[in-house]
Amino acid sequence: MRLRRELILEEMGLTPIWRLRPRQAPTVARDPVLVGPAPSAEACSPAVAERREAPSTSDRRARILLLDWSALKAEVRGCTACALHARRAQTVFGVGDERAEWLFVGEGPGAEEDARGEPFVGQAGKLLDNMLAAVGLCRGDNVYIANVVKCRPPGNRNPEPPEVGACEPFLTRQIALIRPRLVVALGRVAAINLLARDATIASLRGRLHDYRGTPLVATYHPAYLLRNLADKAKAWEDLCFARETMKRLQDSA
Ligand code: URA
Repeated sequence: MRLRRELILEEMGLTPIWRLRPRQAPTVARDPVLVGPAPSAEACSPAVAERREAPSTSDRRARILLLDWSALKAEVRGCTACALHARRAQTVFGVGDERAEWLFVGEGPGAEEDARGEPFVGQAGKLLDNMLAAVGLCRGDNVYIANVVKCRPPGNRNPEPPEVGACEPFLTRQIALIRPRLVVALGRVAAINLLARDATIASLRGRLHDYRGTPLVATYHPAYLLRNLADKAKAWEDLCFARETMKRLQDSA
């Protein structure tokens, strides 16, 4: 018989379990491969060829991390950095108050988001709007909503690590531009990618985390809650915790 944990993970759409690879260091200025002379014959070896690919990835990341809002939006719109671009109707950049204190981060667009170009507009989005309303918040009013990946993973599967990696500079730059007071990670995919470590959402929720100096609260993904009504009470606790945390942060500012 299969393990209960395995069954639950499958139900949450979290299989196969990811193993986070170490983040690629932003070595633009220091990596001699980036600034060295034209490659010699030995550059044909696979190891060297692999190293030669790194500069374009880190150059791209470094460039994106300097973009302003309009350039960032244009960059996302035209992105072909991973396989997801081939099947998208459009990219889903994010929506809301670009100076919001609250940032909610989901996983990636579904079919309706892909069709409409806005995050969380399907069934899960309706629940998210209700969750926001329950703590006195409203989409667009001191709230920004974004996703880990900006293109729809087919069949609502989880985004693959290379897809998340290609999109990472976009979300990182969005967060740097917004400078939210508090980040709320909706579901495990958002939480583990923002926190850069593997864990279950059950183990991450209920306490305060740190995303590069910004407090982060993790809770269940609204789509999961639609299928697991019993955990709605825990999500409610998480939102109350987030609201109290925000109050404390505002009071101490
Ligand atoms: N689920 C997400 O994680 N994001 C969306 O935008 C929609 C559904």
